[in-house]
Amino acid sequence: MDKWNTRTKLVHGGVRRSQYGELSEAIYLTQGFVYPSAEAAQARFDALGDDEFIYARYGNPTVAMFEDRIAALEGAEAAFATASGMAAVNGALFALLEAGDHIVAAKALFGSCLFIVETLLPRYGVEVTLVDGTDLSAWDAAMRPNTKVCFFETLSNPTLEAVDIAGVAAIAHKSGAKVVVDNVFATPIFQRALTLGADVVIYSATKHIDGQGRCLGGVVLGDKDFIRGPLEMYLKHTGGALSPFNAWVMLKGLETLDLRVRAQAASALTLAKALQGHDKLAKVIYPGLESHPQHALVSAQMEAGGTVISLEVKGGKAAAFRMLNALKIVLISNNLGDAKSIITHPATTTHSRLSEAQLAGLGIGEGLVRLSVGLEDVGDLLADISQALDCA
Ligand SMILES: *Cc1c(COP(=O)(O)O)cnc(C)c1O
Repeated sequence: MDKWNTRTKLVHGGVRRSQYGELSEAIYLTQGFVYPSAEAAQARFDALGDDEFIYARYGNPTVAMFEDRIAALEGAEAAFATASGMAAVNGALFALLEAGDHIVAAKALFGSCLFIVETLLPRYGVEVTLVDGTDLSAWDAAMRPNTKVCFFETLSNPTLEAVDIAGVAAIAHKSGAKVVVDNVFATPIFQRALTLGADVVIYSATKHIDGQGRCLGGVVLGDKDFIRGPLEMYLKHTGGALSPFNAWVMLKGLETLDLRVRAQAASALTLAKALQGHDKLAKVIYPGLESHPQHALVSAQMEAGGTVISLEVKGGKAAAFRMLNALKIVLISNNLGDAKSIITHPATTTHSRLSEAQLAGLGIGEGLVRLSVGLEDVGDLLADISQALDCA
């Protein structure tokens, strides 16, 4: 399997076929497992073999297929699947940190990630420093002898800033800290965070991996010592397990992931180019555009600019709302990575908990809208967005 290329891994990786030889992966919708004897039960609790299970909170064959398939894609030694992306973020950070430790995190974080870092971790005695993730000297200056984790999202939400993964990894590893990357916006297809130097990579599978708006899910990937050690210990005892049904949806989602995100990213680039300079827009932010302030870094660490575009509509909230309300194909929703194109106004939805100063610090203006580009015909999308901008 290691020698296979991405698309082959995504279709065949991790398959566990039962005695029936089913073509499509089976859903093992069971929380428990039966042992042929008391001795066999004892043996399994003493030492769990590679393809053995005792309880679905610890592991399940369908969940294991998903974990093995995404680990193969990512080139990771191991993976642990979780009930949501947030269970993955929470699990990774709580498994790595304890009272007296220090974490450095980029301030441009997904709202729930910011809550864990800013509010939850300090409650348990973890010191926190938030930095501008794009500024390597800020990461360097924030490091302390007790820094155990550097955590960031790249690309960031919703302003699509890139963090230099190799750069932060060099700084963190000098002090023995681990680098944890939330790679959702970049997708595992376009950015190999582990290869670039990250120690742990996290996905909300809810986004591109499902890609069709059905299930919540998440996954943490890294080396075997961490995943099968402290991470598994934390997650199996705190209950963040992925349901076997949802794991099956994610497993099948992986089969088409490469095709979908490449098509979505190609459409995103086409739309970003077509919309650049539009007289109703103050700004078009897309990492695949040469006008992106970090285009060189994006080109070096990503294979494409991703599936999300952010647009700054002239005229603030009122104009942005008029645009959203005029769209006929693009849906107003706060998911992303979906087959359906989706638009959201971060200042009043996903980021509405932030203060005006925080919003300004993150570059989230009143006119900013985040567009997740789907699988529709790109000409139809451009026509829809253009007519909506006319109404802005
Ligand atoms: C959605 C998202 C999460 C959380 O994932 P859930 O599956 O909703 O729990 C975390 N990080 C990023 C960057 C996300 O986009």
